[in-house]
Amino acid sequence: MDPEIALKITKMLDPKSIAVIGASRNPEKIGYQVVKNLLNAGYEGKIYPVNPNADEILGLKAYPSVLDIPDDIDLAVIVVPAKIVPNVIEDCGKKGVNGLVIITSGFSEIGEEGKELEEKVVEIAKRYGMRIIGPNVVGICNTKHKVNASFAMGMPYEGEIALVSQSGALGVALIGRTWIDRVGLSKFISIGNMADLNFSDFVEYFKDDHETKVIALYIEGVKDGRRFLEVSAESSKVKPIIALKAGLSKRGASAAMSHTGSLAGSAEVYKAAFKQSGVIMAEDLTDLFVKANALALCPRMKGDNWVIITNGGGVGVLSTDAGEKYGIPLPDIPEELKNEFRKCMPEFGSPKNPVDLTGMATEKEYKEALKIALKSDFVDGIIVLYCHTAHTDPMEIAKAIKEVIDEEGGMKKPVIVSFIGGKEVYDAIDWLKENKIPAYDAPEMAVKALATIRHYTKWSEKPLIKPKPPEGIDREKARKIIEKALSEGREWLFEDEAKELLASYGIRVTKMRLAKTENEAVQYAREIGFPVVLKIVSPDVVHKSDVGGVKVDIKSEDDVRRAYNEILENVKRHVPNARIEGILVQEMAPWGTEVIIGSTRDPQFGPTVMFGLGGIFVEILKDVTFRVAPIEKEQAKEMIEEIKGYPIIAGARGRKPLDKETLADAISRVSWLVHENPEIIELDANPVFLYEKGLIVADARVRLRRS
Ligand code: ADP
Ligand code: MG
Repeated sequence: MDPEIALKITKMLDPKSIAVIGASRNPEKIGYQVVKNLLNAGYEGKIYPVNPNADEILGLKAYPSVLDIPDDIDLAVIVVPAKIVPNVIEDCGKKGVNGLVIITSGFSEIGEEGKELEEKVVEIAKRYGMRIIGPNVVGICNTKHKVNASFAMGMPYEGEIALVSQSGALGVALIGRTWIDRVGLSKFISIGNMADLNFSDFVEYFKDDHETKVIALYIEGVKDGRRFLEVSAESSKVKPIIALKAGLSKRGASAAMSHTGSLAGSAEVYKAAFKQSGVIMAEDLTDLFVKANALALCPRMKGDNWVIITNGGGVGVLSTDAGEKYGIPLPDIPEELKNEFRKCMPEFGSPKNPVDLTGMATEKEYKEALKIALKSDFVDGIIVLYCHTAHTDPMEIAKAIKEVIDEEGGMKKPVIVSFIGGKEVYDAIDWLKENKIPAYDAPEMAVKALATIRHYTKWSEKPLIKPKPPEGIDREKARKIIEKALSEGREWLFEDEAKELLASYGIRVTKMRLAKTENEAVQYAREIGFPVVLKIVSPDVVHKSDVGGVKVDIKSEDDVRRAYNEILENVKRHVPNARIEGILVQEMAPWGTEVIIGSTRDPQFGPTVMFGLGGIFVEILKDVTFRVAPIEKEQAKEMIEEIKGYPIIAGARGRKPLDKETLADAISRVSWLVHENPEIIELDANPVFLYEKGLIVADARVRLRRS
């Protein structure tokens, strides 16, 4: 991040002096609550209330204007009515204020009028080099430096997670909940309308914030998807980013849109963007806290080997199932480790993984078993499960767990706990959390948290991919095809053009030639070699087979003539005034597995690339996957591997594996094609026949943006 911007943000989040503009003596007013919160938090810097009608607010000297304050101002918190915000900001600018938190609402979130006002505010702030958080926010908190510049009910629970929330109300509620779940925050940012500073800025900023270990986001919509993707990819290599994206359902998307006035990108593309930039997706609010907290409290998980230590078989099995579900199957453990575990259990215990200490186990057995697991080089992560029994006190078990971890010099590998039982169990869980050991009342949750740590560790170890274009691209040829169509005012490329375009990016397409007469068709068929396929080419026909415009497997010259005329008749019948460019004669590709490679342009993230199996797989099962373009071949391979139909490509049930390498290469090339040619707004290579060796594009459609 630009050090100058970073410094500005640091001074906003850890200010030496704060002006509260619109401070009030009326306890009902936000202008009162902000001053009160700063005082209650024990803020150690200077607080300057600004209010022309008061001399003193909450025991602090008040100033008529920010210009009257005899000190530099690192942060101005603005709570005056929207219409006077521009004047106030002008004053802040003259005063040389470093940064602004604009709590006031009534800006872009209310529509056109508010949007204009917001633009004006941004323009003034820019002129003076001031950065803005908001408007339409709750404020900011910094637990490490006792800053509560917000009208939330209080400070968040202290910890190492930076939480950035686009919803103010939810933000306030989550601050309250941090105390219940013991989810510690380093910083809380209510980001509101993001008129200036946005998610990308904070993702970039918190990467280097030493007080933050995990970045947690509640997102309704990001503003500049591209930048978000880039900065997240870099930051997530340094520390985990976990995001809860609202509006992934169709209805949810429109609710979010009217909420903050930002566009919610389509669900699939968000998922893809998160995946490719290493942003961990939270399923819901609880999941956001569970994952963020586990990641903040535990070290990374260096390998795939984890053990379950339990006093009950049932929860052990549930956790084993969860391990498989969340992608960390429970491994068998080596003999010598089993022998060690055997020492801390009765005869009828089980030293296999899950390590069942039996219902007889007390804190003593738990301590011994945990110690063995912590000391073992084989073990990379540990789940400790406990079902409440009559002869044990859960608090004693909890204390035993902490003692062993402390004896080992702190948590050197993830230890996640789940206790199941009544009230005493919940007290023990709370005690564990207070002592920075993640603990849950559901074993599946503990396993999910561990899996998240493992998946994140793997991601963080992989080098950051900055995609480079493949060799063998004829960009000039591609430009010519696109420009010709545009100059003719066409939105759709003809099939031969679309396929030539793909070919110019190094993807194999059928041999083909456009015939204007029956005789030409015969001649071209002879040149290409039988069997051939004949297809209509018309600007008025997009779906060729629907109008009888495709004839396949044509084996002789006579058949070419017959097909040629039949196609023309069919088309004339279905689309009476269709303009006809000619008939495309092309090689008949041998049958292969049909796949589809496509692209759409997303309003937030720009060009995307899609892959799936063709035919019913795409139409009925929607078994497709997306990425934001461009991508490398390696990333394309991940796409291929993640569709449900992957076994068909990998070679299931005695079938030979298909050419994944060439397929991945083609997907990557399509991603470069759409990335480098912004006029392409839709692309569909369908079907592409995939073989044991190679592939061929049989049909393609490309839509251009006119203008
Ligand atoms: P449409 O405009 O209706 O999508 P297509 O060009 O995709 O027309 O042709 C319809 C079907 O004909 C394809 O899905 C494919 O099964 C088959 N087909 C088309 N072109 C070829 C070809 N060159 N080789 C083999 N089969 C082809
Ligand atoms: Mg087709």
